Amino acid sequence: MSFTVRVPAKVNVQLSVGAARPDGFHDLANVFLAVGLYDEVTVTPADGLTVTCSGPGTDQVPLDRTNLAARAAEMLAARYDRMPDVHIHIVKDIPVAGGMAGGSADGAGALVACDALWGTNASRSELLDICAELGSDVPFSLVGGAALGIGRGEKLTALEVGGTFHWVFAMADRGLSTPAVFREFDRLSAGFDVPEPVARQDLLVALAEGDPDALAASVSNDLEPAALSLFPELAATLAAGRTAGALAALVSGSGPTTAFLVRDSSSAAEVVTALRASGTCRTVRTASGPALGATLLEVSMSEPG
Ligand code: ATP
Repeated sequence: MSFTVRVPAKVNVQLSVGAARPDGFHDLANVFLAVGLYDEVTVTPADGLTVTCSGPGTDQVPLDRTNLAARAAEMLAARYDRMPDVHIHIVKDIPVAGGMAGGSADGAGALVACDALWGTNASRSELLDICAELGSDVPFSLVGGAALGIGRGEKLTALEVGGTFHWVFAMADRGLSTPAVFREFDRLSAGFDVPEPVARQDLLVALAEGDPDALAASVSNDLEPAALSLFPELAATLAAGRTAGALAALVSGSGPTTAFLVRDSSSAAEVVTALRASGTCRTVRTASGPALGATLLEVSMSEPG
């Protein structure tokens, strides 16, 4: 028997970063929007814990116990005093090391899938606890929709969204390490007063009203200068999308994926064409949000062939 869970990518419509804390982490005010680009995580009973992965960029995905999906399975098994005897297969569509929380999505997906496979029936709050231990972005991958994350980004409050927002994403030909981008943020902000991160009210209203123009006027990403400093070619990608009529262009999370908010699907098509023609990115995709969080898709009674 196997279980498959579908998990969305995210874009940060606001990512405000505070000064580095003594523990090295940063306080954040993170407004997450889940978008319809998905990884699928399938779990099947096995002897021991194994991970396989297919899709673009999989050569950069660890297949050992450092994979967030494997760690999620181990943590759930430890809590329920059982062996993590499971094979995890990840079909990746979320860009690897792209600033769209792909690894976090797989962690949340594996957790929900193993919970179903093992019949552990963990409560939502237990699952969220494990997610928060796995990483700052993992709880959001579980819940989806839109949410404000504070602390390291893991303390979530669900947000109302009054409509569908259309996006175009440009994937780069290499990844960016999130810790490296935070280190660059620290380097660039050294000697400056970094304000306390807080959610922007105009942005929350724009989300609640489903108003793309108001959202475009209020999106922000404090990590963008650091991502651009480590990956200067992204400036050309952002400019190409803006010129083609995107309402807003920003680096997604720690990058290097760039995100373009567009008014509707016809405007999305124009931005896609311009980005492809610009030759500044590896691939271009459209997706809309909000999208559902980790969702159990399918139960298969036969062994996968
Ligand atoms: P975030 O947006 O949460 O900062 P990201 O989208 O930039 O993350 P990920 O795709 O999550 O980046 O990958 C970051 C690193 O995490 C990878 O380079 C890889 O070494 C490691 N990793 C661990 N588990 C996974 C996984 N299941 N999928 C992808 N990467 C993983």
